[in-house]
Amino acid sequence: MSNTPANSPHTNSALFDRARAVIPGGVNSPVRAFGSVGGTPYFVAHASGPYVYDVEGSRYIDYVQSYGPTILGHAHPAVTQAVQTAAASGTSYGAPTLDEVRLAEEIARRVTGLEMVRLVSSGTEATMTAIRIARGATGRDRIVKFAGNYHGHSDALLVAGGSGVAQQGLLASLGVTAGAVADTVVAPYNVVPDLDETVAAVVVEPVAANMGLVEPAEGFLEGLRQACDEVGALLMFDEVITGFRLCFGGAAQWFGVTPDVWCFGKVIGGGLPMGAIGATAEIMGNLAPLGGVYQAGTLSGNPLATAAGLAVLEQLTPDSYNRLTDVSVRLQTGLAAAFDEAGVEACIPRVGPLLGLFFGSEPPTDFDSAKKICDNGMYQKFFAGMLSRGVAFAPGAYEAVFTSLAHTDVEIDATIEACREVAEEMA
Ligand SMILES: *Cc1c(COP(=O)(O)O)cnc(C)c1O
Repeated sequence: MSNTPANSPHTNSALFDRARAVIPGGVNSPVRAFGSVGGTPYFVAHASGPYVYDVEGSRYIDYVQSYGPTILGHAHPAVTQAVQTAAASGTSYGAPTLDEVRLAEEIARRVTGLEMVRLVSSGTEATMTAIRIARGATGRDRIVKFAGNYHGHSDALLVAGGSGVAQQGLLASLGVTAGAVADTVVAPYNVVPDLDETVAAVVVEPVAANMGLVEPAEGFLEGLRQACDEVGALLMFDEVITGFRLCFGGAAQWFGVTPDVWCFGKVIGGGLPMGAIGATAEIMGNLAPLGGVYQAGTLSGNPLATAAGLAVLEQLTPDSYNRLTDVSVRLQTGLAAAFDEAGVEACIPRVGPLLGLFFGSEPPTDFDSAKKICDNGMYQKFFAGMLSRGVAFAPGAYEAVFTSLAHTDVEIDATIEACREVAEEMA
């Protein structure tokens, strides 16, 4: 356990300098550089339950939670044990294993309508492959996505992305050719777009969680289901955040709308690299070696990742979601009261255990309304005030707030207490 004094070379700022010399921006994922909130990122030494500890020995109550994967909290003993046991038996084989089968069975058991799963190593890979399956299955090229939804960083899906893309003020990325996005149509979230028979798939975050948290409007997902059916397009739920976090069976169960294709990531890897594409046996039959849609991966179905994923899912009973929701409700209620008392305009949307935080009068309904609030400068003040009091929210206004099953009333109430002080400063 590190408890390095602040004057040692292992300070956050010394490490950030070192990192910037050898890693672009000092980070391996842009949001971690604190670009939109200012200040120096904390370098994590270790983490446990609801806490992360930096190299200077500071402790933070963590609402980043790796942006979703660590739903049990950090270093949960069941996950740590499973990974250690798996590692002792070898870290990768390039041959099938029992745990891959078990994880696929677990996912299929929970998600009604999903029959087969292909495991990959990230959410990005899952959505990228899902699109290829949709195009292969329909013989069509066009993809419809929604502004402010984030589906990873593949060329065709990065346009008008939320999360870090929005934080950088980018509508898209340099290095993506016009050809790569020629078949991507961007529509506003929460409006059912007009489709025609050139559309292979409509891809959507069933709860948008990469432009803060934006709830699907009444009838939106049902409308997408109907519009897809009318033209024979596939409906694709990107459940990389909602999957196994929103509820036991995911967004399809929550909203009663069944997509044709599911994408998963984050929670199913328990903090190890993991993603998955799921669908009916018929749709998944398009994938090699059964069909002509190619996809492969040296580390796909990696034994450490499948062990971690199974360990996490084993802990997640239907009741876990009630408990996680209780944690989120306590936080939501306490933060709302703190802002209200101080006269700071804030809204804290919640869908089950999923939470967002906006410093505006109305919860946004799409990317345009989310951007207006996320770029108003208030989040930076909140973030800095909370971090200096030992509470780590995500270093960007476009991210959701991630609670975990390890957060107890003690952490939630300490967070609310800190928020009272920060809200006073903000007012
Ligand atoms: C995080 C995320 C992805 C990308 O997953 P990675 O594992 O970061 O590649 C895709 N879709 C959604 C909704 C996400 O939140």
